[in-house]
Amino acid sequence: MSVLKRLDAGIALSETERMVVDSVRALARDVIEPNAMRYDETGEFPWDNINAINDLGLNGVFVPEAYGGAGLSYTAYLACVREISRACASTGLTWATNFHGMKPLVEFGTEEQKQRLLPRIAAGGIGALAITEPEAGSDATGMKTRFTPDGDSILVEGMKTFISNGDVADLYLLFGKWSEIESPKDAISVLVFEKGTPGFSVLGTEHKMGHRASSTATIAFDACRVPRANLLVGPGAGLGILFASLNKSRPSVAAHTLGIARSAFERAVGYVNQRRQNGRRIIDNQAIQFMLADMATELSFCEAFLWRVAAMVDAGAPDFSTESSMLKMKAADVAMKITEDAVQLHGGYGYCREFVVERLMRDTKINQIWEGTNQIHRQLIGRTFAEKRGA
Ligand SMILES: Cc1cc2nc3c(=O)[nH]c(=O)nc-3n(C[C@H](O)[C@H](O)[C@H](O)COP(=O)(O)OP(=O)(O)OC[C@H]3O[C@@H](n4cnc5c(N)ncnc54)[C@H](O)[C@@H]3O)c2cc1C
Repeated sequence: MSVLKRLDAGIALSETERMVVDSVRALARDVIEPNAMRYDETGEFPWDNINAINDLGLNGVFVPEAYGGAGLSYTAYLACVREISRACASTGLTWATNFHGMKPLVEFGTEEQKQRLLPRIAAGGIGALAITEPEAGSDATGMKTRFTPDGDSILVEGMKTFISNGDVADLYLLFGKWSEIESPKDAISVLVFEKGTPGFSVLGTEHKMGHRASSTATIAFDACRVPRANLLVGPGAGLGILFASLNKSRPSVAAHTLGIARSAFERAVGYVNQRRQNGRRIIDNQAIQFMLADMATELSFCEAFLWRVAAMVDAGAPDFSTESSMLKMKAADVAMKITEDAVQLHGGYGYCREFVVERLMRDTKINQIWEGTNQIHRQLIGRTFAEKRGA
């Protein structure tokens, strides 16, 4: 058994969870992967794949049983993200964004909110997480979207950009600033915005390097009236919810990028075992074995840390923010290097569209940019070691 298969065999899943992950792997292999190249070419939203995922009832993985889901562990969720992303990064992102957007509702919503909103997601509805604005990227506190209380409603005014699923979502976890609170950080609040609310519009979608079939939209809110009952926790609770939600979505980004890297690594291994030059297989050159050794080692370390962080979350660890940043940053850098090396190992063919590694290299780049750029993560990790002044 290869080292990577041994790692997979050791993932802490219950028997039911292992069956779910096995069926996701089969779906990814039989349905999602065969569609991936076509969706990358056309840039169309991967409806076939999303419908197949919903036929399997997979949105239930991250919704508790009480609200129509299956309520599996975080480890099982990450294993599913990795399998789907290994087959098609765009589909993996589209599905994982449901979790990124809706997990805070599971964690911070009232019973009434959860009963009313979560069954829609469990039944296959699409979620979105709307934080970024044209002038507020790495510094989310610069957001300008405004929430103004008006009786039983909140009036929403503003714009969000780069929103995954932004043009197709049923529910948006929307961040903005409470008009009655002055401090930019304290004003950040969060509500669930429902599809079909008058005043909402999609201004456009991006034409991207990778993840071409996922939709990335700029959306606008023009005096949108949202029931106050959709506010999470209360005015000014947004920043805490934002950090808590990012801590859980960052390992999900790591699972996503490691799925892409695993596919690139396996394809590179397959290729160098069959391609011959100078009368011998490419893999019989020591320089190539050294490259594979580095790729496999980096991948194994990242995967091992992925399951370690997953176990912390499942055990209810009160703080895993630094681990989460380290994992996202390192996995994204390692996956970028592995996909680049996989292209290199395919020679000129790796640079051509018919070879999947070409797509994988384009797809993985964004993982160094979103959910906090890797520069921001280095800053977050590094500053945990700064001793308090005067201590
Ligand atoms: C395909 C795609 C999908 C996305 N999906 C979503 C989504 O679903 N929801 C959502 O809310 N957002 C989403 N985003 C937005 C994404 O999270 C942001 O692009 C990201 O946070 C970076 O913000 P920015 O693009 O404004 O870059 P900027 O913040 O302007 O950064 C530009 C450069 O400056 C560096 N930089 C910035 N500040 C610092 C600093 N303090 N120290 C050192 N370096 C710094 C950055 O690392 C980067 O290299 C998506 C983006 C893309 C491209």
